[in-house]
Amino acid sequence: KLFNELQDLKGNIRVFCRIRPFLPGQSGNKTIVDSIGDNGQLVISNPSKPGKEGNKTFKFNKVFCPTATQAEVFSDIQPFIQSVVDGYNVCIFAYGQTGSGKTYTMTGPNNATEEDWGVNYRALNSLFKISQSRRTTIEYEVGVQMIEIYNDQLKNYSFGMVIFVFLNLHTMGVTSISQPNGLAVPDASMHPVLSTSDVIDLIDVGLKNITVSATAINERSSRSHSIVTVHVRAKDLKLGNCLYGNLHLVDLAGSERVDRSEVTGSALKEAQHINKSLSALGDVIFSLAQKGAYVPYRNSKLTQVLQSSLGGQAKTLMFVQLNPDINSYTESLSTLKFAERVS
Ligand code: ADP
Ligand code: MG
Repeated sequence: KLFNELQDLKGNIRVFCRIRPFLPGQSGNKTIVDSIGDNGQLVISNPSKPGKEGNKTFKFNKVFCPTATQAEVFSDIQPFIQSVVDGYNVCIFAYGQTGSGKTYTMTGPNNATEEDWGVNYRALNSLFKISQSRRTTIEYEVGVQMIEIYNDQLKNYSFGMVIFVFLNLHTMGVTSISQPNGLAVPDASMHPVLSTSDVIDLIDVGLKNITVSATAINERSSRSHSIVTVHVRAKDLKLGNCLYGNLHLVDLAGSERVDRSEVTGSALKEAQHINKSLSALGDVIFSLAQKGAYVPYRNSKLTQVLQSSLGGQAKTLMFVQLNPDINSYTESLSTLKFAERVS
């Protein structure tokens, strides 16, 4: 019976839609958003078919309107973070065209204050607080790893982009962490941390290393998938048994379609890799939602890396990011169609 109940959760997939606000100077622009319902319904209007006849309706587990704060968004994610310390694997994605707010949701704006922290800082902060509050009964070992996938290649930066963090004082002497998915991280450095601000400093160092590596920062980061992975081992100090959970926080490459007639060489190659990996991700989530017997994980590096937290008992959350501007109508519609297929 329990098995059937789990199956009924549609592969444990949740889809949230987040619409970013117009940026300063764009406030006069027209929006494609017709209405947002309380129950996760979003109605989009077609700028070239005025009136209701061009409207299209989409349904999500939740829609965040442009005024939603980072804290409000995170309050709906908190249960997923709690699941990680209870031994579940969780994957949180941001999907959408470049400029739709993926990085804002996952990381926050540049030089974010605590108030604008995105999901990854808040998630680590929350894991740190949970581990502190339970420290007399449970020993937590937490490792944070950052990777980038560019042109279907895993990047392990030799200058220390991969960072392991141990949050618990008990385990400060630990020098390696077991990685259930067996990913090789040769250049990992380890840093014991004693407070939330230590965690944030380390993440900042890692994020800076990612951007330092890019000549054209936004260009490159929008053409690659960046993944923050948190491995958690929870050891019950009384019983001695361990639970393992991991959390993947994924800022996907921009989903915009590149006009093949206009790009050549490396730009074309990038575009093909992005298309291929995003459709591979869509295929995996689609087959999980269909409860398909065969799940095509092997078709891209992205889905291979995330395999342990897609399917089975794992919980998946996809943020579908939208730029509300009517000039982005076509791209927004294709983003919404991707979401419709997987939800
Ligand atoms: P992406 O990562 O999808 O390319 P960004 O996260 O960089 O998009 O967002 C594009 C711009 O919009 C940035 O200047 C960002 O700070 C801003 N932005 C995105 N979402 C929000 C939001 N919810 N509130 C305020 N500004 C936002
Ligand atoms: Mg971005």
